Amino acid sequence: MTTSASVPAGSGNSTAGSGTVTDRLVEANERYASAFTDPGMDARPVLHVAVVACMDARLDLHDALGLALGDCHTIRNAGGVVTDDVIRSLTISQRALGTRSVVLIHHTNCGLESLTEEFRHDLEMEVGQRPAWAVEAFRDVDQDVRQSMQRVRTSPFLLHTDDVRGFVFDVKTGLLREVDPA
Ligand SMILES: [Zn+2]
Repeated sequence: MTTSASVPAGSGNSTAGSGTVTDRLVEANERYASAFTDPGMDARPVLHVAVVACMDARLDLHDALGLALGDCHTIRNAGGVVTDDVIRSLTISQRALGTRSVVLIHHTNCGLESLTEEFRHDLEMEVGQRPAWAVEAFRDVDQDVRQSMQRVRTSPFLLHTDDVRGFVFDVKTGLLREVDPA
């Protein structure tokens, strides 16, 4: 891979530098690896915690929660929704890799607040096939956190459901606000 521009100027996936955004990430990795030494860590999270959060780009989980490499499992998707696939990851996290606590993090100004289940209908109209998954759009972020906590607490697959707490991260202040599960 050369460092000269391989994408025409103005192309949607080019960056201010050279190449595509993926090229830029690969170059950053080469710098990262050049300074990297094997920390000799176990795959089991040091703090025995799994964090389920929205994929939102403004949420830096490690910095926001004071986490270091190796501390936790991080499971992210659009909305931080507890889907079947999140339960799959939590089940493996608890049963194979020793985590016990679950932290759920939604946030203010989430993209899912501006969507509805119509999104699925529109997709079906466009591509001729209805997606199997729900959009999981919501209007009330606190209620959505409560529903997520409930899905974790009632999962038959999980070993540990006694320490499940849910929060809303404020993207303007950086503060977490805990949601009362009741
Ligand atoms: Zn979000």
